[in-house]
Amino acid sequence: MPTSSTVPDNRKLYSAEFYPPRTPEGAAKLRAVRAQLAQLKPAFFSVTFGAGGSTREGTLATVLEIRDEGIPAAPHISCVGGSRESLRDVLAQYRSNGIRHLVALRGDLPSGSADAGDFRYASELVEFIRKETGDWFHIDVAAYPEYHPQARSSEDDLANFERKVKAGADSAITQYFFNADAYWHFVDACTARGITVPIVAGIMPILSASGLARFSDNCGAEIPRWIRRKLESFGDDSASVRAFGLDVVTDLCAGLIEDGVPGLHFYTLNSAALTSTIWHRLGL
Ligand SMILES: Cc1cc2nc3c(=O)[nH]c(=O)nc-3n(C[C@H](O)[C@H](O)[C@H](O)COP(=O)(O)OP(=O)(O)OC[C@H]3O[C@@H](n4cnc5c(N)ncnc54)[C@H](O)[C@@H]3O)c2cc1C
Repeated sequence: MPTSSTVPDNRKLYSAEFYPPRTPEGAAKLRAVRAQLAQLKPAFFSVTFGAGGSTREGTLATVLEIRDEGIPAAPHISCVGGSRESLRDVLAQYRSNGIRHLVALRGDLPSGSADAGDFRYASELVEFIRKETGDWFHIDVAAYPEYHPQARSSEDDLANFERKVKAGADSAITQYFFNADAYWHFVDACTARGITVPIVAGIMPILSASGLARFSDNCGAEIPRWIRRKLESFGDDSASVRAFGLDVVTDLCAGLIEDGVPGLHFYTLNSAALTSTIWHRLGL
């Protein structure tokens, strides 16, 4: 079974996510960001993985650096566009480096890519990981309180989430959301289906109004009207956007903690300031 030094324990999880830097300058900046966030004593840091394996080496290199800095690290792994063989190689590489925690995803093919690869859904990837590596990895999967944009229906999406859990996922991290009711409704619906794995809330600090709107349109996360209108009213005043965003997201997190969320996972966008301020305000 996974060791306690590499896998989340049962206390509330506070974790943070980065994407692999593409330049030496980006790598240096990310080291500084991690040094700041490491002071908050996160349960782990995770590192994203480009669909089709585009960031494979960057993901591994960043994960190994994080581990050398003394923080448990979890690489993401996505299956779309990948072959059985290439994913077997990635798993072997992670395993030989002593990595025991993965975030397993389908991923999204870059536009223009035609080859979907050997796996269609994350549930097939989870099944493959379990078949190839048994209990070696603690596996997190994605969950969507506001439902995945490609889901045929909310019930279908829930059934597909259940498929991932049945295939062997240990826990889940949600897409970000600003409406706590959506999260709790999703958790209740999972409980009703007998899904008992911890569902950690994904948290997106608000860095810029236009960036958030663009990203949310793509991933199907809803920005409530009152938040959107308020953000629009600040125009180019980025200080006000951040101040308002900090209040909104800190309140969201405080409410989730009060109501018993098993953990919070921060999408940092490789920037420390907002995540760290929210973390401090929450007194974590
Ligand atoms: C915490 C988190 C981390 C992420 N990290 C990354 C990353 O590192 N790299 C990256 O590229 N992307 C990442 N993503 C984005 C993710 O890859 C996309 O949201 C992607 O569109 C779906 O991935 P999934 O693993 O949820 O897919 P799936 O669980 O496979 O679901 C995708 C869609 O297919 C449907 N579906 C599933 N199974 C079936 C079935 N058997 N039959 C019919 N329909 C089905 C689902 O309902 C859903 O609509 C992340 C998302 C989250 C929430």
